[in-house]
Amino acid sequence: MLVVGAGCAGMRAAIAAHDAGADVAIVSKLHPTRSHSGAAEGGINAALGNAADDDPETHAFDTVKGSDYLGDQDSIEIFTREAPGDIYELEHWGAFFSRRDDGRLAQRPFGAAGSPRTVYAADITGHVLIQVLYEQVVKRDIEVYEEYFAWQLVENEDRCQGVICWDLLNGGLKVLGGKTVVLATGGMGRIYRATTNAYACTGDGMAMALRMGLPLKDMEFMQFHPTTLYPSGILLTEGCRGEGAYLVNKDGERFMQRYAPNAMELASRDVVSRSETTEIEEGRGINGSVLLDMRHLGAERIIERLPGSRELAMTFAGVDPIHDPVPVRPGAHYHMGGVETDSDGATELTGLYAAGEVACVSVHGANRLGGNSLMETITFGRRAGTAAAEWALSHTTVEVPQAVERDAERELRRLLDRRQGERPWKIRDELGASMLENFGVFRYEDKMARQIEILDELRDRYPSVLVEDKGDVFNTDLTQALELGYMLDLATCMLQAGIARRESRGAHSRPNDYPTRDDENFLKHSITRWADDGPELSYKEVRMTKWEPTERKY
Ligand SMILES: Cc1cc2nc3c(=O)[nH]c(=O)nc-3n(C[C@H](O)[C@H](O)[C@H](O)COP(=O)(O)OP(=O)(O)OC[C@H]3O[C@@H](n4cnc5c(N)ncnc54)[C@H](O)[C@@H]3O)c2cc1C
Repeated sequence: MLVVGAGCAGMRAAIAAHDAGADVAIVSKLHPTRSHSGAAEGGINAALGNAADDDPETHAFDTVKGSDYLGDQDSIEIFTREAPGDIYELEHWGAFFSRRDDGRLAQRPFGAAGSPRTVYAADITGHVLIQVLYEQVVKRDIEVYEEYFAWQLVENEDRCQGVICWDLLNGGLKVLGGKTVVLATGGMGRIYRATTNAYACTGDGMAMALRMGLPLKDMEFMQFHPTTLYPSGILLTEGCRGEGAYLVNKDGERFMQRYAPNAMELASRDVVSRSETTEIEEGRGINGSVLLDMRHLGAERIIERLPGSRELAMTFAGVDPIHDPVPVRPGAHYHMGGVETDSDGATELTGLYAAGEVACVSVHGANRLGGNSLMETITFGRRAGTAAAEWALSHTTVEVPQAVERDAERELRRLLDRRQGERPWKIRDELGASMLENFGVFRYEDKMARQIEILDELRDRYPSVLVEDKGDVFNTDLTQALELGYMLDLATCMLQAGIARRESRGAHSRPNDYPTRDDENFLKHSITRWADDGPELSYKEVRMTKWEPTERKY
């Protein structure tokens, strides 16, 4: 079987599949330890109860409430119940999490959490996890096709039977067969110009699934993180606010007092991002940003708990948070939607599974809580890997028809043989800038309509993009052109779902026309499929177990 993606979700899935007895290989366009999971900073949530009373049920309730009641509660309950065991397993594998004086794992407060439950390794948690998981992959001798760009999924006899890849190092298409395939290709923050996401986060897996006719769920929900460095968009972890940092406006006022008097800076991300944007739009910002003030934490605590954040602020904003407040603003950070799966990662297509940020299981609903995503990659990566292995072990054949290979070759040739056309970066830049302008923290009917027109125009231009590099070795010109195609499809899905959701819920905020949540009409997931001439929208019920929607107050 194959796992596409070598971030936390992909590696955890491959380890689980191997341990279940499957012959598994990983395909990744990056070396595994360069996957974007390695950039995660603040921590990973599990109700261990080390810092205060806590239990999986409280974690589940916080997650449901944080999701603005759009999360599927059965998946959330599985998630919070299994998270503590997964953390201990990572710890036994060698993850050196920060500890309390009594030797137990330390846990810090994160936004909208009823208890301090974020386990962390200073502020380099993702880096630690990715190294530990890679060690486990190497220990098991799991084959990694690294620097293989997965381009298309192979469907044969109504099931997924492999992946068509471009070999980045040597050039040429490579067809890999697999009885099952787990997509773990991460998020798509690069659809926006201001983002915390790496260049590789272009939504490839979501788009590949979409093109196979599979449903994507809740595409309109893009989370904006409140503290990204101005102007680069690099993330400063929520852990800064978890450790006690303040947000202040140009007058030095802790403005969260007016928006979330109880939770203050630790209200959920959608609330804090909207508050910051309002401050900036109403003239109380500084150069399009507000300030994150850590000075009162003191040098010792900043150096011990937030060394990475300090370094980022000094390198990319020229500010040492020990002495000065840091300019920050909201940036596109995490996409709550993705390939629809059940709680074992299974998609609608037999043999195809998905886990991590590419998937929508759906734990995060309309708004993800900080620390829940890393945990999701581990818990649902493990579950998807196990389920995919079980299916692969009980079925015998794999066949990739030659016609599929030939079609892919022809399509690629057409692109590479083109001698004239527009360079992809230009369309990519326009896409990123316009998405930020028209489909950002706040959404307005006229701007969304305008963005749909822009996307139509960009999509019309895309078929004539010119790949200038015709070579075989590290042809990133080619892969970036393919990624652009993915992003244009996904942006179109986001806009269509966004304009149709006539309410404000979680990260989808329409302050002018539909400022409140409308459970009567929109307590439902959006489902997007690609039809002949564009996305087709339908809706699906949210799975509830025990929590009825109530108003969110912070
Ligand atoms: C800066 C930052 C900080 C964060 N901090 C936290 C935090 O503290 N806590 C938390 O819970 N969450 C955090 N998050 C969110 C969390 O880190 C991510 O959602 C999560 O790590 C995603 O993991 P993943 O395995 O799904 O994807 P990734 O780690 O992005 O891995 C994707 C993999 O897929 C591969 N891939 C992609 N496309 C292709 C293709 N076409 N062909 C082959 N391979 C492909 C890539 O090479 C990569 O190996 C943070 C996010 C960011 C951006």
